[in-house]
Amino acid sequence: MRNELYIDGQWVKPVKGGTCDVINPATEELIQTISAATAEDVDIAVKAARRAFDRDGWPKLTGAQRAKYLRAIADGIRARQSEIAKLEVLDNGKPFPEADWDIADAAGCFDFYAGLAEELDKNAEEVIALADDRFTSKAVKEPIGVAGAIIPWNYPLLMAAWKVAPALAAGCTVVLKPAEQTSLTALELAAVADEIGLPAGVLNIVTGAGLVAGQAIVDHKGVDKLAFTGSGPVGSKIMAAAARDIKRVSLELGGKSPFVVFDDVDIEQAVEWIMFGIFWNQGQVCSATSRVLVHEAIYEALLARLIEETEKITIGNGMDDGVLLGPLVSKRQHEQVVAAIEGASKAGAIVACGGTRPEGFDKGYYLRPTILTDVPLDSDAWVEEIFGPVVCVKPFKTEEEAIDLANDSRFGLAAAVMSKDDIRAERVAAAFRAGIVWINCSQPTFTEAPWGGYKESGIGRELGRWGLENYLETKQITKYVTDKPWGWYIK
Ligand code: NAD
Repeated sequence: MRNELYIDGQWVKPVKGGTCDVINPATEELIQTISAATAEDVDIAVKAARRAFDRDGWPKLTGAQRAKYLRAIADGIRARQSEIAKLEVLDNGKPFPEADWDIADAAGCFDFYAGLAEELDKNAEEVIALADDRFTSKAVKEPIGVAGAIIPWNYPLLMAAWKVAPALAAGCTVVLKPAEQTSLTALELAAVADEIGLPAGVLNIVTGAGLVAGQAIVDHKGVDKLAFTGSGPVGSKIMAAAARDIKRVSLELGGKSPFVVFDDVDIEQAVEWIMFGIFWNQGQVCSATSRVLVHEAIYEALLARLIEETEKITIGNGMDDGVLLGPLVSKRQHEQVVAAIEGASKAGAIVACGGTRPEGFDKGYYLRPTILTDVPLDSDAWVEEIFGPVVCVKPFKTEEEAIDLANDSRFGLAAAVMSKDDIRAERVAAAFRAGIVWINCSQPTFTEAPWGGYKESGIGRELGRWGLENYLETKQITKYVTDKPWGWYIK
């Protein structure tokens, strides 16, 4: 396994030689150590990315030329998909089939943006119709420059792909910092980039602590654009820091997403989507539908089936067959989620199932999937993101009440509605104040479709053509096309 920094096309040790521990969340054992970059390493990485952008010509390549590199990266990831997926399980704890999806999606993301890079050759320029025929004008899309990308631990390689693929497609160069808990697959991405001959400095990967390496990227004058996925408080600090030198910034932050279930649904299907919406990836999903609102006519019946199925979930090491719920990513995360459940109980909520360590698991950051009912609307459990396998379930009487409860949040990342009445489902979808809305499902995510939040869930959109726009500036080029004097003083 790799443990050095990847800077300017070379594997290098950090200047100060620091390390971070990599822990297997299923066993609590030390897997290895990785390099902890400091501001000195980040400075070298940013300078390499600057040179690759300003002088070596990455942005001057045609989109089709960049697309070849992106497709080669996609193929390189796929060539070792299973090996990378196993590393993801070791590092993050998620069940292998989910890790395998993530790695396939990450490769698909590079393919998708290869296509958009090719299209840029045709659509980067747009002629602007002017009322004054003495001029012609066009708008030209150009890459922003050096992108500093900072990502969390819940989808380690996929989050890297969501940032690196559109940035490289646009013609930007990148300094990426993965989360300190889960850096192994980002280092594999660097290895793939190296193998396929991506020019030096185009992609630099610096591992290390957020407050040190992450902060150094945010503060570096040579970075033109910050792309961040992570928690709200850190996102807010990054936006404030970006304001100092007007860096472009896109933020994908947390959520407390609602799932409204009407009384005409198939209860079995609703239960499966509710469970998937909160228990996949151990609930460590920014868009997890963690507040489930169920029409009172089916509330008791649905809750009973939800508890029954939740208690059947196979918990275990993500590498074991049939496991649906692995350990949480870290000791800290486990402690925070357990504290949130205890806080909910103290506030008056009922723990209808779960809430404790599963029997027979003395080691590993395991937690039984948890259902909370009677959660007070002003309690942290209802209002704050828990980021674990914990769902709050509440009954509602009317559509209006359900929409009010759903939108009563400072977040607005995602929302879901389930009903056989398509007109009602569309009406509720339109009323949600959220960036991603699912009808009759929860969580399916497509590289082609925009991803991002309203309100405190973030700013900007990733994925699809919106993801490419994140890394592009618009330049106006206007030409005076007549021989006649302008007429300001020459008449
Ligand atoms: P976090 O904000 O603590 O860390 C995210 C990244 O930022 C890590 O790489 C970390 O090292 C770095 N970082 C931390 N402090 C920093 C600083 N001062 N300057 C620069 N970088 C810094 O979040 P986390 O605990 O890793 O992830 C969980 C959070 O991420 C949740 O709140 C979740 O909702 C959110 N998330 C959102 C999305 C989305 O698409 N909207 C996706 C995944 C996770």
